Amino acid sequence: MTDNIARQYIHITGIVQGVGFRPFVYQLATQHALVGTVINDSEGVKIDVQGLRSTLASFSAQLVEQAPTLSRIDDVTITERLLWSELEKPITFGIEQSQLRDSTTVCISPDQGLCDACKRDISNADSRYFQYPFTNCTHCGPRYSIIKALPYDRTTTSMQDFTLCPDCAKAYQNPLDRRYHAQPISCDCCGPWVTLYDAKLRVKSCTELPLIATKHTAIEQLARKIKNGDIVAIKGIGGFHLACDATNPQAVANLRLLKHRPSKPLAIMVSDHSIAKEVVEGCDVEWQALESQARPIVLMRKRYPMWSRCETC
Ligand SMILES: [Zn+2]
Ligand SMILES: [Zn+2]
Repeated sequence: MTDNIARQYIHITGIVQGVGFRPFVYQLATQHALVGTVINDSEGVKIDVQGLRSTLASFSAQLVEQAPTLSRIDDVTITERLLWSELEKPITFGIEQSQLRDSTTVCISPDQGLCDACKRDISNADSRYFQYPFTNCTHCGPRYSIIKALPYDRTTTSMQDFTLCPDCAKAYQNPLDRRYHAQPISCDCCGPWVTLYDAKLRVKSCTELPLIATKHTAIEQLARKIKNGDIVAIKGIGGFHLACDATNPQAVANLRLLKHRPSKPLAIMVSDHSIAKEVVEGCDVEWQALESQARPIVLMRKRYPMWSRCETC
């Protein structure tokens, strides 16, 4: 009977942190009734697991086949280990605290666009993420832009100054929650919020700028300014974005003048696929890239005549 049981040490490298890999391993191991641990360190994800040899074979195959969408597995090494004694053997499968190592072989996920589930949270009046601008989960949100050191943990990101509220802490600690160990997790109660400043005055530092509004009022006032033809600077996770109403020729002309960019294309943001189809045309590959989770800026052909009102845009 003992011959059928094995203990394996599985080391996985690639983009395996900040992409929900540990909860995925936890759920898979629990489904297979395996015991052991999974840990993150700067060399990747390491799994120490024991169970029936046949079960371990399907477990390791599914680790690769069903890996989280945002992950990228570069290498998997499986080493046999001595079986745990009855006294040492873990009773269940668990996730251990991340460890710091001298060597670093793990890759970090790029920032990811908002996922559909988080989009639903933002528009659900009963959700505590309702209209919260920094909503994210293990399947989406900032990664590379907020990281300061490895392994990827909240304390090594720019979110370390925001202490989790009890609700966020509960989600962060529950391996079955979509936000389990989502390092940028925050909500209306505990996370960063938006503030609107008037930048028309010339001041030495941005802390001297007159405050116009905070929270929802700030977003509403900013939208009003854009509608009025103003140019605004929005501080995102990776830097400042200068923005204006792309359908307002005068606002676009002012922006081009300010940026010293008379003809080079400017990135246009639209709310969804149907609006994008009115503005640009492209091949399948371009549409797939535009709608991929990374939400990159894609250079596509401008559709005429709808967006040809302006000589300069
Ligand atoms: Zn999400
Ligand atoms: Zn919170």
